[in-house]
Amino acid sequence: MRLVEKKALGKLGRVVIPSHVRNEIGLESGDPIGVYVDGNQIIIRPLNLTDECALCGRTRRLVDHRRKKVCESCIRELAGVVERD
Ligand SMILES: [Zn+2]
Repeated sequence: MRLVEKKALGKLGRVVIPSHVRNEIGLESGDPIGVYVDGNQIIIRPLNLTDECALCGRTRRLVDHRRKKVCESCIRELAGVVERD
């Protein structure tokens, strides 16, 4: 990871991703992005729906189900809902 710019957080929590960074990554206006939290870090990256849970967005412990990824946590939660019915 490298520092490319220092910015101040805007009044509404907004941050502009510099155009040279968007170009380097290949991000265009309207592209989906994911905002992730890891400890005290905030990570913004292009949203790749193939590597995160379709229900909650987690990126760990994923299981393929009908061409979608679902995390074990959501599977357990859904299993509990089904058992209650
Ligand atoms: Zn999930």
